[in-house]
Amino acid sequence: MKADLLGIKKILRDYPIEEERMDEFYQSKFSQFAIVSYGTAILTVFANFMYFFTDCQIFGRFAYETLLPRLSILLPLALVLLLPVFTRDYHTLTSSLYLIPHAAMWSTVWAIYYLPNRDFAREGFIIMQFSFLAIGMAAPIKTHIELHSLYIVDIILSNALLHYKTFWMMLTLSVPVYIGICIVLFFIELVSRKLWVTEQKLDNKSKRDNLTQIYNRNMLNDLVYPGTYQFRWEDETWCLMFDIDHFKKVNDVYGHEIGDEVLKMCVENVHSMIRKSDYFIRYGGEEFVIFLIRTNREQVMNIAERIRRGVEESKNGITHVTISVGFAPYKDDYMEAIKHADQALFFVKENGRNAVGDYEVLCQRGVVGDDEVVEPLEPV
Ligand code: GH3
Ligand code: MG
Ligand code: MG
Repeated sequence: MKADLLGIKKILRDYPIEEERMDEFYQSKFSQFAIVSYGTAILTVFANFMYFFTDCQIFGRFAYETLLPRLSILLPLALVLLLPVFTRDYHTLTSSLYLIPHAAMWSTVWAIYYLPNRDFAREGFIIMQFSFLAIGMAAPIKTHIELHSLYIVDIILSNALLHYKTFWMMLTLSVPVYIGICIVLFFIELVSRKLWVTEQKLDNKSKRDNLTQIYNRNMLNDLVYPGTYQFRWEDETWCLMFDIDHFKKVNDVYGHEIGDEVLKMCVENVHSMIRKSDYFIRYGGEEFVIFLIRTNREQVMNIAERIRRGVEESKNGITHVTISVGFAPYKDDYMEAIKHADQALFFVKENGRNAVGDYEVLCQRGVVGDDEVVEPLEPV
């Protein structure tokens, strides 16, 4: 086995994140550390302004020359604090935060220009690197390495202007701090990755049914506006509900374990007949709901019949099963759509099973809905 001294490879292997989900991870990392980063940005500005009092001590009087340079950092701070009003994108926001330590550097360079003694710049520049550490927690490590490295460039460029007496010492002190901070942030990102992947796994587990591995009802909360039963999308959506016919008999004859197998196979069969974008949910024991998105009436009629026939014609090697299906359109309340599909399904159950019930047609016939006719009629 190759050396994996710090367990880095193990973490990357055991907590993988697919390429297309990296943005999601970084967005979550940003949300988690945003408070640290924005707090640090404000503190950095405050500390930078406090250096004005040091300037006064160096001058031995009110340092009016450095007042404007020291205050100039308020401008980038205003920009950084205003940006979240326009975007939530982690890429833009994390990058914008780096403006602060860089602006702190340049406002200091501007102030130092007037100072009779520039020796304190060396320590000041090192202290400022801690601002990069805290701001970097919210950023992708790659972004950090790039934007923090510009700090070394800042020192080199400002030297052309200020000709520091201890320029080389400034570099030999700053570069190791830069490298050290990047390493610390790399490990912070590894820990964040571990937590995020674990959280995703748990979240996924809580929304999946153990037996069939399709969704359970919990996942519906993710699809709606908080506190409502309204889906987040506008596309035409239909609710299809089905229930295995006489399933109790399957259990009675073959036992619960075999019953489980039959249930699983039935779900796999239906799963293979619908699209990936449809939401297939185990709603109760042997009762299932499918939300079909971007689907019209004709398509849902075809899908419902295809599923019904598919189950009827399938062979599971144990027993022959059939399902009863009901479907209804979703308007702006999925609970209502489920209730209507259930009414259509109930009608089918009452009228011979192994058939498809169209809620709207049944409503027109007056056999389901609020004005329901009590006596059973011909199945549809
Ligand atoms: P109907 O055609 O009217 O739907 O008849 P049914 O027997 O299917 O209906 P009923 O609701 O009376 O019974 C459903 C049965 O499904 C009862 C329950 O034991 C069984 N069941 C529910 N969940 C599971 C499960 O996870 N595994 C097994 N093996 N059986 C289950
Ligand atoms: Mg049943
Ligand atoms: Mg049932």
